[in-house]
Amino acid sequence: MQLFTRYFPAFSYLDRSSEAEFCRYLVHRTHNSTKRFAVVCIVLMLLFSVTDVLLGDSWLSLTNLARYTAVMCIVAYIVLSLKLNAEHWLQGWLALSAIVIMLLSITFYTSGQYNGRLGEGGPMVVAFAIAAIPIFNLQQKLLLWLLLLSSLLFIKLCTDTNTGWVIFYLCISILLCMTWQRQFDTLLRSQFKAVRLEQQKAETDQLTGLLNRRSFEQRLQQKLAQLTEGQQLSLGLLDIDHFKAYNDHYGHLDGDLVLIQLSRLLSADKKRLVVRFGGEEFILVEQHATAQPPGLLQLPQQLAAQAIPHRASPFGVLTASIGVVTLNYPGHQLTSGELMQQADLLLYQAKQQGRNQARHSVINPLPAGNS
Ligand code: GH3
Ligand code: MG
Ligand code: MG
Repeated sequence: MQLFTRYFPAFSYLDRSSEAEFCRYLVHRTHNSTKRFAVVCIVLMLLFSVTDVLLGDSWLSLTNLARYTAVMCIVAYIVLSLKLNAEHWLQGWLALSAIVIMLLSITFYTSGQYNGRLGEGGPMVVAFAIAAIPIFNLQQKLLLWLLLLSSLLFIKLCTDTNTGWVIFYLCISILLCMTWQRQFDTLLRSQFKAVRLEQQKAETDQLTGLLNRRSFEQRLQQKLAQLTEGQQLSLGLLDIDHFKAYNDHYGHLDGDLVLIQLSRLLSADKKRLVVRFGGEEFILVEQHATAQPPGLLQLPQQLAAQAIPHRASPFGVLTASIGVVTLNYPGHQLTSGELMQQADLLLYQAKQQGRNQARHSVINPLPAGNS
């Protein structure tokens, strides 16, 4: 196992779920270059056919027919794979590459029979072409190289074709390509890790680990777009009561600890989107099928029940107020800014009416034709 993880970065460099995420990222990034590469392979195969014909071979020889079949398979896959998801698309290319290698092995076999010997060039070109495929990792390419190697071994052992140094040169080429691919796999994954880390940093609040204001807009738009008929979306704006007094009484560091403690409480529900909007204000977004948001309105009670001492507050414990607005119809064209404005107004009312409470309002569907 250690040997595996040492030599195959795709097994060891990232954990399983990150590797799957990386795979999707790679497929997404190399979708077009893979197609371009396939076109280059098609052109190369047709060029080889033309060269063979110029050297006296027939257009319809078995060698050329095998190449045409490979070309048709690639074209058919490019057309048919348009709607496949990343994982199936990748598996399809792997299967197709294996089929193309088998077809090219037929060309080696027939040209070997025709000339009495096998040139080194063809198999080496195929080995390097496998190395150049942008989407496969080392173990996937190893499978393809082994397939190529075993078909040549078959020609050497089961036919009277003179294979000369072909297998020797092929093994050297494969070994060189393997080392290169191993470094490439590591490099690509470390780049992915760095990009993802940067992205996470840019989207995350350093103190609490929650999403920050910057990433909020995009996430809210996603949630709004996901709404289906009969589903409600509630947005809450929560603000800690008398937090300035807490800092003044206990110090800023203790204030920070309270923010961390509160963010844990707020993100206990994994389906809830929680954002640190700034300072001691948090935005919470919930999707629900019930008329009232199931969790948001209870948050002030839940926080008070934690009984975090706050001597400078009239409540004696840490409390918060929240304004919650529920969007009752997916057809509503409300922007995130308008939702925030409504929630802010409700939060203001909650503060005015004594704090440690929730204020809620529902935006009902507009009459048909107005939404
Ligand atoms: P209210 O009940 O009206 O909300 O009163 P408040 O004192 O909570 O409201 P105000 O907005 O006046 O004060 C917010 C305070 O939050 C001010 C600042 O000291 C504190 N604060 C903002 N960001 C942080 C932070 O990152 N850490 C700590 N410890 N305190 C912060
Ligand atoms: Mg505030
Ligand atoms: Mg406050």
